[in-house]
Amino acid sequence: MARSARIGRILILGGTAEARALASALAERKGLAVTLSLAGRTAEPLPQPVPVRSGGFGGAQGLSRYLRAERIDVLIDATHPYAAAISANAAEAARSAKVPLLALRRAPWSKAPGDIWTEVDTMEDAVKALGQAPRRVFLALGRKEIRPFEAAPQHVYLVRSVDPVDPPLAVPHAIYVTARGPFSEEEDRALLERHRIDAIVAKNSGGEATYGKIAAARALHLPVIMLKRPALPEVESVASVEDALAWLNHAITFSTARGV
Ligand code: NAP
Repeated sequence: MARSARIGRILILGGTAEARALASALAERKGLAVTLSLAGRTAEPLPQPVPVRSGGFGGAQGLSRYLRAERIDVLIDATHPYAAAISANAAEAARSAKVPLLALRRAPWSKAPGDIWTEVDTMEDAVKALGQAPRRVFLALGRKEIRPFEAAPQHVYLVRSVDPVDPPLAVPHAIYVTARGPFSEEEDRALLERHRIDAIVAKNSGGEATYGKIAAARALHLPVIMLKRPALPEVESVASVEDALAWLNHAITFSTARGV
């Protein structure tokens, strides 16, 4: 990063548990003004430890304008690893506004003995991978990502989301559960058993908060159709909140030492 920057104003692109944890760790630090940015998808987001701005910026150019207008010193992209558009925008905007960028990206889960995973590139491939015979499928996906499964109406779908799926899927059999995670392995196992699920479609999100279903699938010998991670821009990145804090501490120490 350009370590000559004065570190005072930090923008965290969030929507993840890590972004919240990082904001929380920085909230009380003297001399820092931290803002958390959310896409505005959830009707009632969790309370956050720092001021929040919500909604899109209007592409990379909009984000770049925001960085300049708000005199942001450091941009942290702590969005979900499948939020590829905002991460691409962050990389472009940081470059054009000349603002240092750090990406905080969880490492993906690795397949463990007993896991039955089929990795696919796209949601359409996930639909195909379910096959023709009717199955009972847990769609462990965002509510906005499940429309492609309408192309396979022979399956029974279980969908769990924070906000209701509106409109519902155009399929004859769908079960909706509204709940906010994280969910333990026991809770996810109980859900899978209660609904007699025989296949799961999931993203390789990494981290602990959504691993319960993967561990539960292993225990129940259920197949998981796993969406591969999207390509993300190559920027300086760390995989944990601790490492992001260490990076920021180093940047702050450096900028203080230079007296800028
Ligand atoms: P995306 O496809 O990468 O982004 C689509 C557009 O939404 C972006 O171009 C941007 O609009 C806006 N946007 C996304 N994240 C934003 C943020 N943190 N602050 C302000 N604007 C944002 O993103 P997505 O996959 O829909 O994810 C949306 C949010 O949900 C993100 O905050 C992400 O961390 C969180 N999330 C996503 C997933 C997932 O699986 N994708 C899972 C859990 C949480 P403009 O171009 O207008 O700026």
